Amino acid sequence: MAAEVVILGGGVGGTLTANLIAKQTNGQAHVTVVDATGKHVYQPGFLYVALGKQQPAALSHAETSLLRSSVDLVAEPAVKIDPAARTVQLASGRSLPYDQLVLATGSRTVMDEVPGAEGAYDFYTMAGASRLWDALQQFTGGKILVGVAGIPYKCPPAPVEFVFMLDDYLRARGIREQSEIKLLSPLNRAFTIETTSKLVQPILAERGIELCTFFNVETVDPATKTVNSLEGESLDYDLLVLVPPHRGQKVIEDSGLGDERGWVPVDKHTLKHTKFDHIWALGDTTDIPISKSGSVAHFEAPIVADEVTASAKGLPAPARVYEGKVMCFLETGRGKATTIQFDYDHPAKSPKPSRIWHWSKALFNKTYWHTVPQGRLPE
Ligand SMILES: Cc1cc2nc3c(=O)[nH]c(=O)nc-3n(C[C@H](O)[C@H](O)[C@H](O)COP(=O)(O)OP(=O)(O)OC[C@H]3O[C@@H](n4cnc5c(N)ncnc54)[C@H](O)[C@@H]3O)c2cc1C
Repeated sequence: MAAEVVILGGGVGGTLTANLIAKQTNGQAHVTVVDATGKHVYQPGFLYVALGKQQPAALSHAETSLLRSSVDLVAEPAVKIDPAARTVQLASGRSLPYDQLVLATGSRTVMDEVPGAEGAYDFYTMAGASRLWDALQQFTGGKILVGVAGIPYKCPPAPVEFVFMLDDYLRARGIREQSEIKLLSPLNRAFTIETTSKLVQPILAERGIELCTFFNVETVDPATKTVNSLEGESLDYDLLVLVPPHRGQKVIEDSGLGDERGWVPVDKHTLKHTKFDHIWALGDTTDIPISKSGSVAHFEAPIVADEVTASAKGLPAPARVYEGKVMCFLETGRGKATTIQFDYDHPAKSPKPSRIWHWSKALFNKTYWHTVPQGRLPE
């Protein structure tokens, strides 16, 4: 009898893993993806929505259009997992049995964890990005603060990309002279990756974007329009953009499968749950101290697919493991970009920003729907 493989989450990690398992098991496993909305959302596009360069509708496709025909889709949220009974309970009350389970539910943003920040703008959700674009069109000059309200967060370079693109936008509108842009970083540098921070910091300075280091956003006072840091500093603003705190999904927390923030503990090479040998996790969902990025989910998916395939076929564990591969683009504005590449054993490298990388990112964004979810790009 075919093994029942259930994958929670139809984002980049879940979709690619489902397609690879269906292909590799060739009928020896029946694969079901459970996704809360049944829609696949390309989140890197939020950055462009926030700056009026992308329409929200272009970033969302029906999950069924990305899955192989043999993979079933259940479009409703999973609310509880019982690893002892090997079942997933759905919001409708239906219970789904499984032999192997993959957790790919991503992360959620929780702006309400920052007192006073309810009204702050963000580009970490589709609704947030659209609201920010509305606000930017009304903006006629003043102080814009872009801060980070909690680590870890998805796509660590995104706030840096945003300030560069914001600089371009304000210049194009002729209001850059009347505006200040400050990037608030909780670290001693622009963002987590040291070598790339060293590369981008002089460019920030050159563009007149002030980098405020060791500024961990703690509270916001919307009445006085000030943001306060854990370190005791206060800054005033006219427009506040925050990267909201992140945590794992509620289903993970409610099922006791994650840590206190809902991140799933896995072996950093096999991506298997540290307590359950029939559960794997990938992408933003894991507790691995590596960038929460689509690129990581993309490179982890073949490893999880190999693991699940071997388990479904009753074969020994595969030799191939995840070696921490990451490859991301970083827009530096003015039509240029750089890349960030590293793995567990090799520190990050970033080339000098160039037009080639900017156009490579644009091409990747455009062709994503026909390449990554189906496994058509090199691993
Ligand atoms: C502004 C921004 C820019 C970014 N730029 C980049 C970039 O340039 N490069 C890059 O590599 N990454 C980038 N990222 C990060 C990237 O989008 C995420 O890291 C990636 O989407 C994570 O993939 P995932 O499969 O783990 O989760 P997701 O893609 O978030 O998918 C999770 C899925 O799980 C579903 N789900 C959630 N809860 C449940 C539940 N209870 N039951 C069933 N389904 C559930 C959701 O509906 C969703 O479909 C960016 C993110 C943002 C916000």
